Amino acid sequence: MLNKESQLFLETLIVTPSPTGYELEGQKVWKEYIGRYADQVESDTYGSALARITVGGDLPTVMLEAHADEIGMVVQYISDEGFITLNRLGGSDSTIARGKHVVIHNKRGRVSGVVGNTAIHLQETKNGGGKQPAWKDIYADIGVTSKEEALELVQIGDPVTYADEIEYLNDDIICGRALDNRIGSFAIAEVFRHLRKRRKELKVNVLALNAVQEEVGGFGARMMSYRHMPDAAIVTDVTHATDTPGINRKEHGFVKLGGGPTVQHGGANHPKLVELIESAAEKNNITLQHEATSIRTGTDTDSIFFQRTGIASALISLPLRYMHSPAEVASLKDLNALIELMTGTVLAMEADQVFSV
Ligand SMILES: [Zn+2]
Repeated sequence: MLNKESQLFLETLIVTPSPTGYELEGQKVWKEYIGRYADQVESDTYGSALARITVGGDLPTVMLEAHADEIGMVVQYISDEGFITLNRLGGSDSTIARGKHVVIHNKRGRVSGVVGNTAIHLQETKNGGGKQPAWKDIYADIGVTSKEEALELVQIGDPVTYADEIEYLNDDIICGRALDNRIGSFAIAEVFRHLRKRRKELKVNVLALNAVQEEVGGFGARMMSYRHMPDAAIVTDVTHATDTPGINRKEHGFVKLGGGPTVQHGGANHPKLVELIESAAEKNNITLQHEATSIRTGTDTDSIFFQRTGIASALISLPLRYMHSPAEVASLKDLNALIELMTGTVLAMEADQVFSV
């Protein structure tokens, strides 16, 4: 379970913005926390962060991986009247942008704004009302009256996030911006906290990678896995909980919030590693949900498994409702189970663990 210190870390990690390509502040928080439980922490050229627990030089190495970035927006253009046209960073959804509070981040600090929403009375619904708006029609209002005034506060290229932070709907359900995937970054750091206590039982070396730029193509994971070439990688990210109204389960499968972490099958997911995860779940009485991978997992797993001569990889996911919205919803019960599952899987790995088939 989460202790006070880890809960504070989770909350700090979520409220620290880490939009794709601008992950530095979030990485500082992550490195400071995992550094308490790791032998060594380092960063690479683009800011992916890596922590290590080194048990012995000849032993196999398993890498736990999550992505450090969150989707966001970027300042694209400023009109003469000082309205700021936004564009997306990663898979942000323009449908939900209007009427939201946003924060523009830059060296000078945080600038508050709202995304303009033309009043319902004034909308020209005959021009496709209700459809997904184009990003060129999404703009932030920061309360200024001219381009010059706006440029004193922001500049083209500044990253933007929603202002929403965290709320607990009850003891189990957490709601917030960027649970995708700060909650995964949190999970791998927590696994390190548990492994540190059980270090004597470890028979493999462990890396934890908090990778940048997943939301635009899995680039951080690609750089770091190529560099370190672990024997195995266990990736964690969020997956769609499909238990809300209006989702076609035949098309997207069925995943229930609170039903436990999911394990994926097929594609990049290495059968032997998946088997090891399933047996760790059984041993630790963790209920698993199952998902089929259709071509791609849509996570950093796709960037890791084929590096150089191949890295045995598997994906464990946390069910999440309303992905890529400022009100993502997850279950702390699922999160605890996921942390236990990753910890149990690493501890089950043998000094002569082989994945080649
Ligand atoms: Zn993600």
